[in-house]
Amino acid sequence: MAADCIFCKIATGEIPSEMVHEDERCVVFRDINPQAPTHLLVIPRAHIVGMAHLDAADLELLGHLLVVAGEVAEAEGLAESGYRTVINWGPDSGMEVPHLHLHVLGGRRMTWPPG
Ligand code: 5GP
Ligand code: ZN
Repeated sequence: MAADCIFCKIATGEIPSEMVHEDERCVVFRDINPQAPTHLLVIPRAHIVGMAHLDAADLELLGHLLVVAGEVAEAEGLAESGYRTVINWGPDSGMEVPHLHLHVLGGRRMTWPPG
């Protein structure tokens, strides 16, 4: 846990959120500023800053985050209509919160390429 990290505090419940999934390794909650009818954030409980901070020790955790993303998307009724998963990293991506998170966006038709 990083002392000043918003997402670490959401994971512990110190900052309230609309939580849709919790397990020992990750939590999933609704984005406070949704960019689609369904916009979830899947985060590890462990404070990992982002893509540039991953290594082979994180393989199992990363697989878990993806599997959970698929499960919560299905629970939201998105399995057939589809959805987008996004992980931002660094200034060019527009990343705002330096705690690894996977966006799950669905419920509307997405455009490509992203803006
Ligand atoms: P990023 O741009 O870093 O990939 O995405 C960060 C996301 O976190 C944004 O979509 C933003 O709306 C969301 N966010 C930032 N602060 C909070 C918060 O306190 N609560 C929730 N639920 N979402 C947040
Ligand atoms: Zn954190």
